[in-house]
This record gives sequence, C-alpha cells and structure tokens, in this order.
Amino acid sequence: MGITTFDNSLDYAKSLDAQDKLSALREEFYIPEGMIYLDGNSLGLLSKRAEQTLLDMLQSWKNYNIDGWTSGEDPWFFLPERLGKLMAPLVGAEPEEVIVTGSTTINIHQLVATFYQPQGNRTKIIATSLDFPTDIYALQSQIRLRGYDPETHLISIESRDGRIIEEDDIIAAMSDEVALILLPTVLYRSGQLLDIERLTAEAHKRGIVIGFDGCHSVGAIPHYFSKWDVDFALWCNYKYLNAGPGGVASLYVNKKHFGRVPGLTGWYSSRKDKQFDMEHTLTVEHSAGAFQTGTPHILSIAPLIGSLEIFAMTSIEEIRAKSLHITQYFTQLVNDALAGLGFTLMNPTEDPRRGGHISLHHEEAVRICKALKDNNIIPDYRAPNIVRLAPVALYVTYEDVWKTVQVLKAIITEKQYEKYDSQRGVVA
Ligand SMILES: *Cc1c(COP(=O)(O)O)cnc(C)c1O
Repeated sequence: MGITTFDNSLDYAKSLDAQDKLSALREEFYIPEGMIYLDGNSLGLLSKRAEQTLLDMLQSWKNYNIDGWTSGEDPWFFLPERLGKLMAPLVGAEPEEVIVTGSTTINIHQLVATFYQPQGNRTKIIATSLDFPTDIYALQSQIRLRGYDPETHLISIESRDGRIIEEDDIIAAMSDEVALILLPTVLYRSGQLLDIERLTAEAHKRGIVIGFDGCHSVGAIPHYFSKWDVDFALWCNYKYLNAGPGGVASLYVNKKHFGRVPGLTGWYSSRKDKQFDMEHTLTVEHSAGAFQTGTPHILSIAPLIGSLEIFAMTSIEEIRAKSLHITQYFTQLVNDALAGLGFTLMNPTEDPRRGGHISLHHEEAVRICKALKDNNIIPDYRAPNIVRLAPVALYVTYEDVWKTVQVLKAIITEKQYEKYDSQRGVVA
C-alpha cells in the first residue's frame, strides 16, 4: 500500500468507505449524531455490546449474589482467565499467557517487581525519553525500592529529533549493566511503532529481559509476543479496546516464566484449585493468572466482554490493514490540503513504523483543538503543541477523515482559532 495515491475529493472518500470491509462494525458503536470521534486512542467509544454486558453483570449480581463467583452464565471467578484467552489472539499469545487484571500502572509495577532482578553489575533499566510519564514514575520507584538511584540506574534513550526513537540507539545502550528493558510498542505522541521483534532478539542476545507497554497498539496493531519471545507486556483496555473509562487492564507473561513467584503476590496469585484452602503457603498458579493480586474488579471488566465480541467478528490483521490504509490516506490529505499552514507531521510515514494515530505539530495546537471540538470533531491534545487524531478502524470513516482535513484547513485559513484562548484544560 506504500505507493497508493489518493484523490482529494469527497466522492473518492465515499468510494473508500463503500469498499471498507469493516464498515458494518461502525453500527456496533454509539457515535453521537454528527460527531467525528478521533480520540479512540485515549478513550474508545461505548459499543452496544459493551453496554449490554455491563448491564448483564449487574443482573447477575442481582440474581446470584455471592454465588455469582461460581454460578450463572459467566462465573466471575474465572472471568479474568476467560477474557485473557479471548484476548490472546490480539497479541499473538497462547491462551494462558494473558490475564485481564489491574491497571496499566499497577501492571508495570507488578511485572517490573517480578522481572527486575539486579545482580552483580547488571542493575540498570532502559526506557526512553519519549515514554508516557507513568511508565517512568513506576520504573523510578521500582529502582528506588531496590535501593538504587534512578538518576544513575534508569537509562533514558534520547530521541534524535524529538519524535522518533531509533532502534539502533536502544540496542547500542544494551550493555552488560542492563538488567531490564521496558519500552512502549507505540510512542504515545508521535505514534511510532517500534520493531518489537528485533529489539527482543537483541536484548536476549545480551541476556537482558525485555517487556513492552502496549497501551497505544493493542486492538489496533497485531503483535506476535509468543513467537517473538517477548518476556512480558501490559496494556490498557480502555483505548483501542473500548472497555470503558478506567476499565481493567491486561498483561502477558511468556510461558517460559510460568511458575516464577510474582513480585507482588496476593491470594489471586494462587493456583485456583488451592486458593480457597486458605493456606499461608502460596502455591503459585502456573499461568499469567499468577500475576493477579486480589479480587478482580468485575464491574470494570464487564464492558470488555462485549467489546471483545466485536473484535471476534473480524481479525486484528484486518483491523491493521484498514488502519494503515486510513492513516496513509489521512497523511496524504494533510500533506496536500494543509501544506503551508504551519502543520508538521510527527508520525512516521512508513507502514512498519506507523501506529494507529496521526500526530500533528502546530504552534496553535491548543486553539486548534478547541476549534475542532466546536466543529464537532473530537481530537486529542498533548502538551505543548501536538494534535493527535486517531482514525480508529472499527468506527471512523474515510469521509470523517476527509471532513476533518477540510475543517482543519478552514480553522487556519479563516483564522477560526483566534476566537479561543490558549489555556489548556485539566485533562489533556
Ligand atoms: C494510557 C497509557 C497509560 C495509562 O496508564 P493507567 O494506569 O491506565 O492510567 C500508561 N502508559 C501508556 C503508554 C499509555 O498510553
């Protein structure tokens, strides 16, 4: 698809929608009338199925009360494992390697507490200067908890241009002082997709454990964590996976690590058939389930059940194919229609390096985002001057993209943005 050229007309956008194999899935979602929603990389939309499974969960609580843990159509006790199995194909994992648990930040703590095993000279952790802040804060505290100083023990890979992290620079930093690497799959600002397979192979050649934060890719981009031999990964389910604000997150642990005692244990780390023996000696579960701690947040998991039904109607490869095509289309319209208007494209343009969103730098980003919202187009703003626009494959149309670019052009050429102040809001 790398060399496709697109026509700039509305008719052409409509013709792309007519050919879109995923177009029927848009009907699954609640999309407010007239709204173009391009913020699915921050909070995915509610689907009718997710709403239904949340309501069903309330019903099962009403009907079964305590027995809901083991009775009813979907016994709560087994739900994190059941959904882990359903999610495994999205990340190329075996069914027992994925569990729905915790939050992204807590799962970073859990997995780093487990896999960061400083020994002798090998005491450092590699991350990047473009990481999402929570990842860095979690790593800093894990380093401190082991009695080391994050100033010396957290190696931050710098970007050469402020938007891309070169894999070569990460590999060059993989010295024999490095115990662990935690990297994003996709950088949250520029949308760069890292070469997970290559980085994993290079880390392993040097005896380094490597894990990934998949918040900005899972549900948009296929991964093959098992085949690539990735040690661990974690991601949130409320972005591309549409499981609702604060929905329970997920993690993956390579089966070669099963049986390892988690860094943070609780009674849900127990083998399920032993858990209710209530012994004070923990028998660790032999699956990713071991990395749970306490009682699963059933009501915050419930929407994911319905959401995963939608993913089961297609495949992650199909989703990626549309995502690559629509982001390429978006990129070309930006290059053509917005040339000379002060926008700089931040995301990589090559398919293997491009994630699911378009990232535009503009000095007036705050005011542009406010103007977009008043035009019923929902963008995502990242300080200080990035507009992120995610044409999510399941519910955004080519026509939406076409209109967005026309509106962006009007906001600048008609100076619409000048009506707004440049103070940003509390969230984003
Ligand atoms: C969204 C996101 C998070 C959010 O973590 P929470 O614990 O859910 O607040 C963390 N890391 C990355 C890379 C993200 O994109």
